[in-house]
Amino acid sequence: MHDLIREAEALCQRAGMTLTAPRRRVLEILAASDTPMKAYDLISKAGEDGRATKPPTVYRALDFLCQLGLVHRIEQDATFVACNHAGHTQPVALFVCNSCLKATEVAYDDVAQMLESAALTRGFQLQRLVIEGRGQCQDCALAA
Ligand SMILES: [Zn+2]
Ligand SMILES: [Zn+2]
Repeated sequence: MHDLIREAEALCQRAGMTLTAPRRRVLEILAASDTPMKAYDLISKAGEDGRATKPPTVYRALDFLCQLGLVHRIEQDATFVACNHAGHTQPVALFVCNSCLKATEVAYDDVAQMLESAALTRGFQLQRLVIEGRGQCQDCALAA
């Protein structure tokens, strides 16, 4: 987890930005969580000394962290998860386990290219692509 914070600091520095205290706290809480979290769960503990903070502070921090690829938003249930390899611009698919709710990241460059060119041939200006799945993770499948 400390590695993730260090990597995040380096990443911010390279991007000419600052990992401010609220941004760092949101990232720390997400990194320490086994499962993706809702924004209001973060709001209730992302303040100083684990107290509640103002919603805009958390939403701004989440926007920032998502933009840098340090945190991913899972659209299907509006939750957030810390990236498991600290910051990347390649798209990832997020698979969420129905049993333990853990999210698994899967790189999907080929599929993204295919869909981007499909959009292009239809004259559709694709701004954002979301690929998500639900199912059962390996651990839960083995435990069943
Ligand atoms: Zn990631
Ligand atoms: Zn599972």
